Amino acid sequence: MKRSELQHEISGYAAREAMLNHNISEQSHLITSLQLAEEKSAILNAIIESTDDAIISKDLNGIITSWNPAAKRIFGYEPDEMIGQSILKLIPLDRHTEEPKFLSKLKKGNRVDHFETKRLTKDGRQIDVSLTISPVKDRSGKIIGISKIARDITDLKQATEKTAMLAAIVESTDDVVISKNLQGIITSWNPAAQRIFGYTADEMIGESILKLIPDDRKDEEPKILSQLAKGKKVDHFETKRITKMGTLIDVSLTISPVKDVNGKIIGLSKIAKDITDKKLEQQRKNDFIAIVSHELKTPLTSIKSYIQLLLLKSKKESDPFRINALTRAENQVKKMVNMIHDFLSVSKLEQGEMTIEKTKVNLTEIICQTIEEGTLLSSNHEFKFQSDEAIYVFADANKIELVISNLISNAIKYAPNGGAISVDCREENEKIRIAIADQGIGIHPDDQKNLFKRFYRVKNIDQNITGFGIGLYLVAEILLLHGAEIAVKSEPGQGSEFSFSLDKAGSSD
Ligand code: ADP
Repeated sequence: MKRSELQHEISGYAAREAMLNHNISEQSHLITSLQLAEEKSAILNAIIESTDDAIISKDLNGIITSWNPAAKRIFGYEPDEMIGQSILKLIPLDRHTEEPKFLSKLKKGNRVDHFETKRLTKDGRQIDVSLTISPVKDRSGKIIGISKIARDITDLKQATEKTAMLAAIVESTDDVVISKNLQGIITSWNPAAQRIFGYTADEMIGESILKLIPDDRKDEEPKILSQLAKGKKVDHFETKRITKMGTLIDVSLTISPVKDVNGKIIGLSKIAKDITDKKLEQQRKNDFIAIVSHELKTPLTSIKSYIQLLLLKSKKESDPFRINALTRAENQVKKMVNMIHDFLSVSKLEQGEMTIEKTKVNLTEIICQTIEEGTLLSSNHEFKFQSDEAIYVFADANKIELVISNLISNAIKYAPNGGAISVDCREENEKIRIAIADQGIGIHPDDQKNLFKRFYRVKNIDQNITGFGIGLYLVAEILLLHGAEIAVKSEPGQGSEFSFSLDKAGSSD
């Protein structure tokens, strides 16, 4: 072979080798691209399978071609119920025109992003969804289908609507609504707060709540906080607050904790009602009651003295008819005097003028006296009280007498058919527990929690049993001033038992 021929042959080989090398690298490039595409598709598949959003694809005629698990969760249909079906199955009739509009937008190269609308579920519910719609294109860029991502925003929408509604209420209510953080720094301030306290939101947000609290009440805040920390709500707490002008106003506060999603308390919300007018009205009523009761007391005392004089005279003359009539009259006067005492006590209590002077008190004596008066008022009840030796408590004698006489007269009044009234008095847990039980009409559980409110009377009881609804209120308040609490155990038709405990006083105290 000639040299030139050989050279030609060699260069032919080199060219074929280069071509071969080129082919090999092209093939390996293709393999890597294929591998990458496969990986990408696997990742996409995993996302589609696990996302919380419904991902649906459809062809240009609106026929569904894929349906992911979230679509099943949100709309209720299985994939084989939907693939091959028209997308219109999910669209409420009045929204069918949306679909052609989406298509023309996509054709112009625009995407549909976060379009909020309504869709139908398998069980016929309309849910709020946010749609993101994109075209699916072939290699040449031609649109061959559509992919839709639908997010169920029903809860979000409801929450937003609820927030908007709450915000509107807070803006328009007549009550002060303030929120503050745990350090007592005000974080929100509504228009009513501005109206009542005189400060604007700008002046108060970022300021301490103490700005509104009078000096002598500054210790209320830590107490309220510790109550809330124990999970107790503060409801209708009546107190005083100070305005920008320096005037003191009466407010009723309802304070609730503001919690984060984990239930941790992150702040407090306060609703304050201006009750200055209500308090003034109450004051006027109290003054009226005090004056009337006082005016009634004077003539009654004199009537009582005359009755007692006449009674003495009749007893000397042994005139049974007069003795009987005058004894009855005396009992009625006593009843009236007790009622007036109750009214005067209520008015004192409301003015904050009721004071407790604790001394060593012979409880047995008070009970015996009250029972004696009770026997005079009622002959068809059998009183049971057993005491071998005197029991002493540390209390205000007059106030405890008022408590016991109210409970015994209720036991008589609310057991119109008679029966036993027992007074039990014994040492229990280092205290003296007193319980007064009757066999009367009893009290429904719903009423039991209201019994100790001022002027509360159980409805639908015998119309002949009259009263004002202040006896038990007084009882509870007097006991509270003694650091004690009244308890009731009762069932309709099964009688009632009222009980409380007082500090014991030893015989040597
Ligand atoms: P009043 O007897 O003047 O109505 P109270 O404050 O003493 O007022 O009592 C409040 C209500 O509690 C009464 O109206 C009555 O319905 C109920 N009540 C009180 N004591 C008893 C009792 N021993 N048995 C049944 N009901 C009672």
